[in-house]
Amino acid sequence: MTTSAPACAIPAPEETVPEAELIARATAAREALGDRLVVLGHHYQKHEVIRFADITGDSFLLARRGAEATRADLVVFLGVYFMAEAADILAQPHQRVVLPDLGAGCHLAECADIFTVDDAWSQISRAFPDRTIVPLTYMNSGADLKAFVGRNGGAVCTSGNAVRAFEWARAQGDMVFFFPDEHLGRNTAARLGIDPAAPVVWDPRQAELGGIAPDALGAAEIVLWKGFCNVHTGFTVRQVEEARAAHPDVTVIVHPECPRPVVEAADEDGSTEYIIRRLDEMPAGSTVAIGTDWNLVDRLRLNHPDKTVFCLKEDLCPCVTMNRITLPKLTWTLENLAAGDVVNVVQVEEQMAAEARLALDRMLAL
Ligand code: SF4
Repeated sequence: MTTSAPACAIPAPEETVPEAELIARATAAREALGDRLVVLGHHYQKHEVIRFADITGDSFLLARRGAEATRADLVVFLGVYFMAEAADILAQPHQRVVLPDLGAGCHLAECADIFTVDDAWSQISRAFPDRTIVPLTYMNSGADLKAFVGRNGGAVCTSGNAVRAFEWARAQGDMVFFFPDEHLGRNTAARLGIDPAAPVVWDPRQAELGGIAPDALGAAEIVLWKGFCNVHTGFTVRQVEEARAAHPDVTVIVHPECPRPVVEAADEDGSTEYIIRRLDEMPAGSTVAIGTDWNLVDRLRLNHPDKTVFCLKEDLCPCVTMNRITLPKLTWTLENLAAGDVVNVVQVEEQMAAEARLALDRMLAL
């Protein structure tokens, strides 16, 4: 079991404190903690908190960098719950990982849980005892699912290394069982030259074989979980067409959590790190439409004043759970830590962490 989530009690008046005062208080608390603390900030975090990050990056990079900051015994993660769990799985024994709002979950990660995945695994194994099934989980999953994959011979993957992970899994067996993101799975299959329509989709709401016909499941090389990110599935082919109509010279780059037709309509797709790197590489005067979380796109716009950068859907809400990490909550967290009260700790049970590390180690070895 992972830790239960005590209430993140932000005193109500805190929300009305002027921003300048909160910044001053958070800065003072941060300075008081000195080297004891490292603050990790995911690219999708709001501007008001990312300014306090010592390191920014994607979830796996941040988890590793937190563990490497060995002088720190406190790791504050500006991100969502599965990211803080991953940081704790890789953390040094003396480090504790803190999430300023324990209610900051991830819609995609919550599309799969250990009970339904375990049930699916049992059903497939019973129905096809001669198949060698290799489980793969996306980084965006709970620690219990990473542990499940670890003890069943599988690996974790990120959006940056999914192609290599799928290649590895296909070499280990004859059926890849990937969860929880159907779209990343389908886009990765396409990158491998597989017909993107070929993978079958396991719907956990269907009682029998995930709603897949037995013949189709028996013949499948890739089984995808019916899960999705509610931010990235908000992008559409029509938005890509409108961007092209308004800016004929536009380069459209989307995240591979977007549905397959959107990725096909775009010029490029890649992880957040890929998108950031491509913006750095592009010459001044470029026009770029991006299909990912609005906070990152807005930061890229600010960092590249020589380019025209916009979100494919400018009125798209940024990830609401990422946005639960606010300046008042960060201030509250830092002040508690500075006062010696370690609040909102995310701690993965030891056995689960060991099995999850196996799956992460297999990813690192790819
Ligand atoms: S953007 Fe999507 S995948 Fe990322 S944290 Fe939000 S819901 Fe999860």
